[in-house]
Amino acid sequence: MIDLHTHSNHSDGTDDPAALVRLAALAGVTTISLTDHDTTSGLTEARTEATRHRIAFVSGIELSADADGTIVHVLGHYINEHSRSLQDRLRSLREHRRGRAEEIVSRLSADYSITWREVQNEAAGVDSVGRPHIADTLVAKGYARSRPEVFATILGNGSPYVPSLPAPTVEEAIALIDEAGGLSTIAHVWGSARGSSSIDGYMLSQWKSVGLSGLEVWHREHSRVQRAQLLRLADHVGLYTTGGSDYHGTGKPNQLGEYETPPHVLDKMAARVVQRVSAGRVS
Ligand code: AMP
Ligand code: ZN
Ligand code: FE
Ligand code: FE
Repeated sequence: MIDLHTHSNHSDGTDDPAALVRLAALAGVTTISLTDHDTTSGLTEARTEATRHRIAFVSGIELSADADGTIVHVLGHYINEHSRSLQDRLRSLREHRRGRAEEIVSRLSADYSITWREVQNEAAGVDSVGRPHIADTLVAKGYARSRPEVFATILGNGSPYVPSLPAPTVEEAIALIDEAGGLSTIAHVWGSARGSSSIDGYMLSQWKSVGLSGLEVWHREHSRVQRAQLLRLADHVGLYTTGGSDYHGTGKPNQLGEYETPPHVLDKMAARVVQRVSAGRVS
């Protein structure tokens, strides 16, 4: 069971990395990737725990990126988290996240009793802050019952409280992952309520020409029909197809291992990484 898409409490998941890996092992996962949003700070702890449980670990990240005004998520697998250029860029992306989160809270405070200090307390220890942490604060203050409810009402895409997330372009995100020796995959491309349903074969081909490797097909936000369409599209463009749970602890209903990457795809990914290293492309 191969799950290449999970989040810990270093971004907007709720389990610490070791607990997440422990739960994954219990669920029968044999290969796991931790793909926190815009941070790699949980990888060391997760990798150590994976070794302890004898499950394979793939270093990962999920970058938020801009495609003509729509946010698209780009998974990076097998990245070298010690890459200096990667870490410099991630630090700046997280600072932009923080600034935008403060702006959201400032806008909210006109209509809700909420302060930046309260959000900071709610997100204590979090490396990469986002709307989910503001949502948790609103829930704690009794304005809603759950994160999904906040996203469906107060903080959804297009909400006047939510300025756009300053993000690199998809091409830049792919280049950043590539420089760090990783493989890029577009996550949940046609996922519900993401506003990215217009992404088509032409755009994927363009991204492939700058280094995109994969397309996430097996994900709970894709219907059966969409999965079949995406499989054909990936085959046409020449991308491998991955799957993952997008587990967020109690932040989302997603369960570890609920969607998987086929073993032959993981073999292809690993072979590609080995090939790059032997070609001297990665230090
Ligand atoms: P941000 O990156 O700050 O714009 O926040 C977006 C993140 O919120 C996504 O990456 C998801 O992990 C999370 N999210 C989006 N929609 C929902 C939802 N309905 N329920 C829970 N979490 C969500
Ligand atoms: Zn998330
Ligand atoms: Fe995502
Ligand atoms: Fe995710």
